[in-house]
Amino acid sequence: MEQNSPTKQAQDDAQVQSQVVDVTATAPSDSKTPPEGTEGINLEAFNKKDIEPILKQSLVKKGLIKTEYLKNIEHAVTTYNINLIDYLISQNIVTKENIGQTIAEHFGCNYIDLEINQPSKEVIRTLPEDISIGYRVVVLDADDQNILVTTDNPKSPGLQEKLQQLFAGKHISLAYSLPEDLDQVLVYYRKPLETRFNKIIQEQAHVAPEIIDEIIKDAIILDVSDIHFEPQENVVVIRFRIDGILHEASQLPKQYYEKILNRLKVQSRMRIDEHGSSQDGAIRYIADEEPIDIRISIVPTIDGEKVALRLLAGNSRNLNFKNLGFNVVNLKTINHQIHRPFGMIVTTGPTGSGKTTTLYALLKQLNNPDINLTTIEDPVEYKIHGVNQIQVNAASNLTFTEGLRTIVRQDPDIILVGEIRDEETAKLAVNAALTGHLLFTTFHANDAATAIPRFIDMGVEPFLLASTLNAVIAQRLVRLIHPQCRMQYTVSIEDLKAHLPHAEVFFKEPQIKLYYGKGCEACNFTGFKGRSAIYEIITVTPNMKKLIMKNPSSEEIWEVARSEGVKSLFEDGLDKVKAGRTTLEELMRVAESKQ
Ligand SMILES: [Zn+2]
Repeated sequence: MEQNSPTKQAQDDAQVQSQVVDVTATAPSDSKTPPEGTEGINLEAFNKKDIEPILKQSLVKKGLIKTEYLKNIEHAVTTYNINLIDYLISQNIVTKENIGQTIAEHFGCNYIDLEINQPSKEVIRTLPEDISIGYRVVVLDADDQNILVTTDNPKSPGLQEKLQQLFAGKHISLAYSLPEDLDQVLVYYRKPLETRFNKIIQEQAHVAPEIIDEIIKDAIILDVSDIHFEPQENVVVIRFRIDGILHEASQLPKQYYEKILNRLKVQSRMRIDEHGSSQDGAIRYIADEEPIDIRISIVPTIDGEKVALRLLAGNSRNLNFKNLGFNVVNLKTINHQIHRPFGMIVTTGPTGSGKTTTLYALLKQLNNPDINLTTIEDPVEYKIHGVNQIQVNAASNLTFTEGLRTIVRQDPDIILVGEIRDEETAKLAVNAALTGHLLFTTFHANDAATAIPRFIDMGVEPFLLASTLNAVIAQRLVRLIHPQCRMQYTVSIEDLKAHLPHAEVFFKEPQIKLYYGKGCEACNFTGFKGRSAIYEIITVTPNMKKLIMKNPSSEEIWEVARSEGVKSLFEDGLDKVKAGRTTLEELMRVAESKQ
């Protein structure tokens, strides 16, 4: 249901009302009543994997996947270690709607896309929290006679009896929703930060640690990159940076701020009695047994000390191929390149383009006990289990260059150099790749084609670069349209040309369908939610190798790359625009059309 027009959505809403399965009359035969005292607890914890064999079978039966293609899909899912549903949706093999409907049919009920049909907080709270979370079920719609609920496991033992008991006399309809969407809705059970602050303050127990705890827990759930504490005259405003944009998360009475400041200072080993100058420190926070490193910076302002916390995604839970946004062709290219025995793989892009995240995700794919993987980084942004990670430390002269020299002596299989900034590191990196190591690094260049001449400008011999470079990946991040408030509009090619010269190269139809998010409460009225990367990947083919040895310009490199079918950043992004995943304006903000 990716490209939902408003009319289509209205139809779907109507469908939802009329087609759901009625569970009021007969309870299903295979449901069991939970033992005494365990009501509300999901006895058979639902495992996403359980549904996969059934899903595959049904999709083949419906003709949505060809039998001969199934082997490839199974192979990819194992190789990239992602779940089947995520893979099918992210690679546009089967739509989310088709997957949802197929599973729903298996359960004998209707499918509801919770990304589009989000219930209000009031409606969600119709069900007690323990029932909702225990059975993974939420109320979508309720009136005096009817109640519509959705779950990712309609066969959950005891669920239907529980609902009948809670809503006695009402007509109950049970629908199916995908687990990931359900998780997003269940987050609503968290009360607003301010309510939780007040409760903590009233109880007067450990005010500072508990308030900090609540803030950081929320930040993790919401994928926040930075937390700001901004003291004002009477209150302290807490802001979260999500997808690169700051939002107010809550406010706190100022009288409790000093305790919080002191707590943060003690934990990050700063001076408590220092109020007049800026200080930096770090803490390690343990969430769900996974450590998260947080860098803290404190700056004095006229209203008090302002604190900024940067969450370094200490665990690497978000590092998977699905989140990276590679299309099928690029996924294949990259998978081939990272499994070569030696050579250099370079990612480029401006600061904040996600290039480090991509490298870590690739590294994570290669991480296994038989391989020695060593990194030199500044700072260590993600901790990966089983990888030897070294932090650059200028004070003890452990620079990228020194670190890399030491690493090579230790003879690892795979090396990651956080960044190549100077000639010495560049030459050392090329040497490491030449002597049988697979080396990953980031490099500051505008696009993939300009990275190659820049390496040569840094003093790397063209013939050495030609024989060591495997691939250059350029990337940018685009914000994704919030699916819940996505709208479609039509624009003529003539009108489009005013903003995008050569529009006819990219769009063949005279009337073009484009999308935008009109903004809603759930996306803070921005129309966007989440980000994904767009890519340009140049691999060093035999032709490219010959060209690099001639000390080429970036234009010459791009010409050869283009003739070999490489898509530019803009073209890769255009696929996301046409699929309604992002807007044309957003793409033009981050990438040039190169025509
Ligand atoms: Zn929205």
